[in-house]
Amino acid sequence: MTALVTGASAGIGEACARALAARNYSLVLAARRVDRLEKLAEELRTLHGVSVTAVALDVTDRAQAESLLERAGNPVVDVLVNNAGLARGLEPLPENNPDDWDEMIDANVKGVLWVTRPVVRQMIARQAQGPTPTHIVNLGSLAGVAAYPNGAVYCATKAAVKALSDGLRQDVNQYPIRVTLIQPGMVETEFSQVRFRGDEGRAKAVYRGIDPLTAADIADLVVYAVTAPLRVQITELTVTATHQANAFTVFRKP
Ligand code: NAP
Repeated sequence: MTALVTGASAGIGEACARALAARNYSLVLAARRVDRLEKLAEELRTLHGVSVTAVALDVTDRAQAESLLERAGNPVVDVLVNNAGLARGLEPLPENNPDDWDEMIDANVKGVLWVTRPVVRQMIARQAQGPTPTHIVNLGSLAGVAAYPNGAVYCATKAAVKALSDGLRQDVNQYPIRVTLIQPGMVETEFSQVRFRGDEGRAKAVYRGIDPLTAADIADLVVYAVTAPLRVQITELTVTATHQANAFTVFRKP
């Protein structure tokens, strides 16, 4: 079995790569920071003896996404994890920098589409040889469940990921192609450092006084969904840290 993971150079994507390699999946790892991917690939090959290919990919670049499979050596992809994504800024919408809107919409919405298209078409083409189970896992967010103040555009992109997942699930329902949406609350990764452009203090404050989810917690859910019996389709999983009730209510230890 081969899994393609986008955004595998950090956080949840890296954790998915580790968890899937430990279950003997061959991997195609994609992200912009290919040096990190190469290092991870080498580590996973040594640890688990699996085949791992690292490919440079900016998901906002349609041409790069279209050539991804070819550049990865034409792997047959059984599992796609659309994980690459980001938030920029946390201010009221009228004060947002519109360049941040472009970046979030291009990566989180259009990026999912660009990457999914060639992979799902390959998955469908394989069905001509008989029913062939495959799986697409999309990383949405609790932000897509309910918009929170100062995050309107990031929240909108993740609501779009939910709609794309729900729509795609229906469009491929005649095949054994499962579509799973995972919607985490606060996970401590590089996410907040990226959101606050390297402001460590602001990034750390997000997780102050709580025991946040880890990237490995989310990778466990991905593994659970993709290894479930083939009759079982996990359509949607929403998960929060125990200290987080929803997007608005977080208990912080003093
Ligand atoms: P992270 O540690 O910052 O990792 C983000 C990954 O996405 C990196 O590997 C990054 O790789 C990749 N990426 C970003 N823009 C990209 C682009 N244009 N092209 C290719 N890859 C790109 O953040 P994370 O928490 O693991 O986030 C992973 C996913 O989970 C995101 O979709 C995020 O929205 C979602 N999520 C996160 C949380 C949270 O609290 N952390 C909660 C809910 C959902 P390069 O920079 O090397 O390209």
